[in-house]
Amino acid sequence: METIVIVGGGAGGLELATRLGDTLGAAKRARIVLVDRSPGHFWKPLLHTVASGKCDPQVTELAFTAHALDHDFDFIQGEVLCVDRAHQTITLTPRGGRHDDGVCRTIGYDKLVLALGAVTNFYNVPGAARHALTLDSVADAEAFRRRFVDGCIGAGERKEQVNVVIVGGGATGVELAAELSNSARALAEYRVHALDPERDIRITVIERGDHLLPHLHPLQSQRAANHLRSLGIAVRTATAVAHVTDNAVIDTAGAAHRADLTLWAAGVEAPELCANLGLTLNHIRQIVVDSSLRAACDSRIYALGDCASYVCPVKGAAPPRAQVAHQQAMFLAELLSRRDDDGPRPGFRYHDYGSLVSLGPQTAVGVLTGAITGKSIRVGGATASLLYELMYQKHLLQLHGALRVAAQTLADWLRAKILPPVRLH
Ligand SMILES: Cc1cc2nc3c(=O)[nH]c(=O)nc-3n(C[C@H](O)[C@H](O)[C@H](O)COP(=O)(O)OP(=O)(O)OC[C@H]3O[C@@H](n4cnc5c(N)ncnc54)[C@H](O)[C@@H]3O)c2cc1C
Repeated sequence: METIVIVGGGAGGLELATRLGDTLGAAKRARIVLVDRSPGHFWKPLLHTVASGKCDPQVTELAFTAHALDHDFDFIQGEVLCVDRAHQTITLTPRGGRHDDGVCRTIGYDKLVLALGAVTNFYNVPGAARHALTLDSVADAEAFRRRFVDGCIGAGERKEQVNVVIVGGGATGVELAAELSNSARALAEYRVHALDPERDIRITVIERGDHLLPHLHPLQSQRAANHLRSLGIAVRTATAVAHVTDNAVIDTAGAAHRADLTLWAAGVEAPELCANLGLTLNHIRQIVVDSSLRAACDSRIYALGDCASYVCPVKGAAPPRAQVAHQQAMFLAELLSRRDDDGPRPGFRYHDYGSLVSLGPQTAVGVLTGAITGKSIRVGGATASLLYELMYQKHLLQLHGALRVAAQTLADWLRAKILPPVRLH
């Protein structure tokens, strides 16, 4: 029986492991092994809601071991340190993690799928990696939330203004700014920290380009900027960051933006591990793959999602988005389940169904693109917000099926009725 190892149980990797487990694993046609450094899966597009305190990751996170049992695949927790392509093995951290003195573990594979995601790209801006926080993982989002809540306590007790600077006016930066503003209001309503959000919390979004959300139509960008300003958020477009210190973000014009808390959301690159595999990479370390999502120089290695560079001859490079990771996972599930005599191999085709950006509760902006016509329509307000919520439900449907998603939606609704809208400490 061949062994298919998938490294990374994120938006794409977990959907792939689930599908392959349900098909090849259940029929004992292959052993499916999922490896992730974390014990649980958290859907990354929701990380800004963890950072703002709206979402408790312990409630939302899905335990890999339980999911593996339900879907006929094996789960091994550990961080992949290297890949020996000649011997077809991967090496993992010892059982207790990086700081354990124990022996590293080795797993053999017949086929290896890398679904490692991406990490923050600081573009070598001096001080950024040292002083800015990121939203790469649940741990990062929790670290940001703790600093934000501490800042709110300080503001309430000592009347010190908290200055939050978000570098990057793309989807992550805009969504986080809107959620933070909302959380500050909710904290004040609960009178937790004697906080006056308008006076005590100052949020600034700095964007290098002329508009926020550069991937959307300028009218949508304008709508998002107006909405943020209506929440009291300062929007600085056409502003590039020169360096970051422990209490300020300095732009290239020399202006200092006071920052008690800096979050860097200005771009991504593939993790460093990708650079150590001897595979062909692009300028942001993504593994170059062909239309079968196979690495250019190793037919046993596949890559998907944010760590892969797939360039469609017609539509260009697939962006680092959850919908790309999802489509690539579904494609690979089909491809890897095929028998050798199943005819010619299909090629991956990316369909851009649009993009939605949340602007806080019950409002969002974005564009929807028809699958057949390719025509785009702009959406906004409550309709866009509902569609945005459905993106996560779609991911859950892939993992759990309709019945369990319906039960979970009901449980979430009840929880929202009885709990405060934001974590209070
Ligand atoms: C705040 C935020 C908001 C976003 N909003 C949107 C949105 O609205 N719409 C959208 O389409 N996209 C959005 N994205 C992008 C989207 O989250 C990613 O494109 C998507 O998660 C990529 O999926 P993936 O499977 O490639 O990787 P990920 O989901 O990042 O998963 C990677 C997995 O690999 C594991 N891993 C990494 N390295 C190792 C290693 N060495 N050993 C073991 N395990 C490892 C990690 O623990 C993780 O579980 C957002 C991202 C962020 C951060």
